[in-house]
Amino acid sequence: MIVEMKTGAGKEAVDAVVQRAKSLGFNVQLNIGTDKTVVAILGGNTGQLSTDVFAVLPEVESVTRIMRPYKLASREFKGADSIVSVDGVEIGGKHVVVMAGPCAVESEEQFMEAAKTVKKAGASILRGGAFKPRTSPFSFQGLEEAGLEILEKARKILAMPVVTEVVDPHEVDLVAGSADILQIGSRNMQNYTLLTEVGKSRRPAVLKRGFSCTVTEWLTAADYLLAEGNDKVVLCERGIRTFEDSTRFSLDISAIPVLKRFSHLPVIVDPSHAAGHYALVPAIARAAIAAGADGLLIEVHPNPKEALVDGLQSLTPSDFTRLMDELRAIASSVGRYI
Ligand code: PEP
Ligand code: MN
Repeated sequence: MIVEMKTGAGKEAVDAVVQRAKSLGFNVQLNIGTDKTVVAILGGNTGQLSTDVFAVLPEVESVTRIMRPYKLASREFKGADSIVSVDGVEIGGKHVVVMAGPCAVESEEQFMEAAKTVKKAGASILRGGAFKPRTSPFSFQGLEEAGLEILEKARKILAMPVVTEVVDPHEVDLVAGSADILQIGSRNMQNYTLLTEVGKSRRPAVLKRGFSCTVTEWLTAADYLLAEGNDKVVLCERGIRTFEDSTRFSLDISAIPVLKRFSHLPVIVDPSHAAGHYALVPAIARAAIAAGADGLLIEVHPNPKEALVDGLQSLTPSDFTRLMDELRAIASSVGRYI
């Protein structure tokens, strides 16, 4: 249930709503906008509650029941687009934010080379996995702590924020010690303990779409992060499982306008994991920006042939540089810039 206060309603009136909700055993979350405050009433059985309980209180403008399972990620709770700020880089505004780097950190040399080239080409954030959630237990699992050290070094030398995946709820503090943004991978979108821990960390988070999950399930997973008071959540569409097997996954391009309609959270797209092949990445990346994505997450490797993970879908530095020029043109045609 969403309680919208009147423009300019005072703290006392907001407190009265909060107190009423708490006295009935519900939790609340506030969205304090520049001219309006919105109070989300959260709990398993708000359905049994009459809207009049809040509608009669002073300075209440309206009370709306949200029938969808997600509340905090919804446009009803927050009408204005959220902007997630990471070390001066704003995700969700006019700037289309490109995050790029190799799938996995393999060595200092490999990562530094990738990082320097993506920076030169105009990327704003570095990506690289230190802990890799692999389908097979026999595949390379990442350099783990040693990988985090390399990320930290690159972050300092190049003065760029870093995004990296966290796979274990017990490692959130460890990973947050080296990274600016915590990535929750597709396979972990419904790992609720991990979501809660990343929520508690209050660190900016990229929540990838589970490849068999609906948009509703995805936004409800985002509520786990938001419910812990972490409002720095970025959604990442990375392709879903369909009957089509000519690509690794099917990029759900419609998810971008759908999310923009139903949620205030920024949306980025990972064309690399959707495509599964370097030749398909540029077209998908261009389409994502044209469809309204706020950013991209792209795999780039200095030498894809030697990559330990995802070499086939990784762009070479020169392919990436060319793509960035194409993306600038698309961004400006939709009123944005890179
Ligand atoms: C990744 O970004 O390297 C990754 C493992 O992605 P996903 O979780 O989308 O498969
Ligand atoms: Mn990868």
